[in-house]
Amino acid sequence: MRPPFPPVSERDIRIVSAQLGRRARDVVGIPARCVCGAPTVVATRPRLSDGTPFPTFYYLTHPVATAAMSFLEAAQVMVECNELLAADADVRAGYEQAHVDYLADRESIEVVAELAGISAGGMPTRVKCLHALAAHALSAGPGANPIGDLALERSTWTPDVCQCPDYGVDVPDPEDPADDDTGGRA
Ligand SMILES: [Zn+2]
Repeated sequence: MRPPFPPVSERDIRIVSAQLGRRARDVVGIPARCVCGAPTVVATRPRLSDGTPFPTFYYLTHPVATAAMSFLEAAQVMVECNELLAADADVRAGYEQAHVDYLADRESIEVVAELAGISAGGMPTRVKCLHALAAHALSAGPGANPIGDLALERSTWTPDVCQCPDYGVDVPDPEDPADDDTGGRA
């Protein structure tokens, strides 16, 4: 899913926080989900609330997906991708378009001057991070990012088969007023 995104639930935020191992901040949407409904990709504000520019609009959060991309990177799949980019003009054109689309999606939320022309994952000319490219492909759909599509094809993880761990979000959270019997008035 590309922006605009529907509202993000507190449960989504809690799952993403569990996936990241820290409280998710500046979330603007959940652009991709596991078949079970759990977020697989989080969309983050291009300028964080502390002022930091944040280029990676589509960020892969699912722990099994991130492990699968790390495995592919260790297996030198990026070398292969860079060779494919150099050899295939159609793939190159698709990758350049993916870069343009990525910037447009992010800038529909906010234009951050420091990030002008900077997308993610090495786009538009190099392949440097399969996590970022797979996150874009999962969010924008098949055909939107040829290298992201390739990474997902090679991956042992797929959003069509739930491999989610127990994120522990279905028990009360002491830090969440909504889970408090007093309704947050304590
Ligand atoms: Zn799942």
